[in-house]
Amino acid sequence: MLTLPRFEWVEPRTLDQLLDHLAAHAAESLMVAGGTDAVPNLKHRLHEPRYLVHIGRVEELRFVRDEADGLHVGPLVTLADLARHPVVRRDFATLTRAASLVAGPQLRNMGTIGGNLCLDTRCTYYNQTFFWREALGFCLKKDGAVCHVVPQGKRCVAAHSSDTAPVLITLDAEVEIRSRAARRTVPVESFFVADGIHNNVLAPGEVVTRVFVPARARARIGGYQKLRPRGAIDFPMLSVAFAASRRDGHVADARLVVSALAAKPRSVTGLDALLADGVLDDAAIERIAQAAAKQCRPVINIPYDEDYRHAMVPVFVRRALREALGLPPRAAREVVTA
Ligand SMILES: Cc1cc2nc3c(=O)[nH]c(=O)nc-3n(C[C@H](O)[C@H](O)[C@H](O)COP(=O)(O)OP(=O)(O)OC[C@H]3O[C@@H](n4cnc5c(N)ncnc54)[C@H](O)[C@@H]3O)c2cc1C
Ligand code: SF4
Repeated sequence: MLTLPRFEWVEPRTLDQLLDHLAAHAAESLMVAGGTDAVPNLKHRLHEPRYLVHIGRVEELRFVRDEADGLHVGPLVTLADLARHPVVRRDFATLTRAASLVAGPQLRNMGTIGGNLCLDTRCTYYNQTFFWREALGFCLKKDGAVCHVVPQGKRCVAAHSSDTAPVLITLDAEVEIRSRAARRTVPVESFFVADGIHNNVLAPGEVVTRVFVPARARARIGGYQKLRPRGAIDFPMLSVAFAASRRDGHVADARLVVSALAAKPRSVTGLDALLADGVLDDAAIERIAQAAAKQCRPVINIPYDEDYRHAMVPVFVRRALREALGLPPRAAREVVTA
């Protein structure tokens, strides 16, 4: 049986109490919201905090507000509540889709959007029991000095596995971050860094206090496609999010993000040139699918074949783009060309 480590339970009721606690004890604290990822990780001794800070009772962090400038979402909103919110369903259907593809129903009822954005990265050599990791001599991300995926590497390449993050990037979303000393806003795209040891810009003592999706993203068409071993529950082996504005039959502001391959989601570059005159037809879809396959390569960080994951990049890009156009995700005769 896997047990929890010893810790002191801290349960602030207000944001002020939370920020006060973190100002004094950030380095010794781990926040939990729904606990669906943090608690299993505690059992594996991936975190060994002195204080476990349950933020789930800070009610001021639980809200969904539809305002003129966009959608404001508190980090404690559960994925289930986000997915069924009428405004999210109406205006940000890809966010609904991504939230409703996270894990399974029980985990979506507990798991929050804040926890999903701040989700720890995952790796074959990390998400294991203490005994398993000890037998291997641990690794760079926790307790060791070597990365078993890239042995000469100085950075961790564990997989970013959040389903909502790639979609939020395509919607130009931002996160508000608070600490006792300051408040700042960061685009979700800049929130992540390419080092799986700590793959976001949160400094000790900082909390995500709001997710904001700007009004200009309301009218965007979009698609979200996720490859996972079991459709009922698993983390992504590959995920693809696409969004674009559509005007007069042409698309603009196109964003394509491929994730779950490395420590941060990757925005595919050069879309404007691939979308000659903004026409998203079969030929453009194919050009974009092939460009994504060139730009996005998995490493052997999760226990699924990397050649297969790479071969699926163009397939899932095609499906996401077709979904955005309202077409069935699979073409009648889909050919894997990568
Ligand atoms: C079997 C299983 C399958 C899963 N499948 C998926 C999946 O398919 N896709 C997916 O995306 N996730 C998956 N998850 C992971 C998890 O359930 C979700 O990501 C969930 O949204 C995490 O939210 P939470 O509130 O439970 O986070 P917690 O576990 O409470 O916290 C996760 C991390 O976020 C930090 N955190 C939480 N809130 C804040 C905040 N406001 N500010 C700063 N840091 C914060 C915590 O300190 C912790 O480091 C799965 C988990 C399990 C156990
Ligand atoms: S990618 Fe390397 S450093 Fe990161 S968790 Fe895996 S083995 Fe450890």
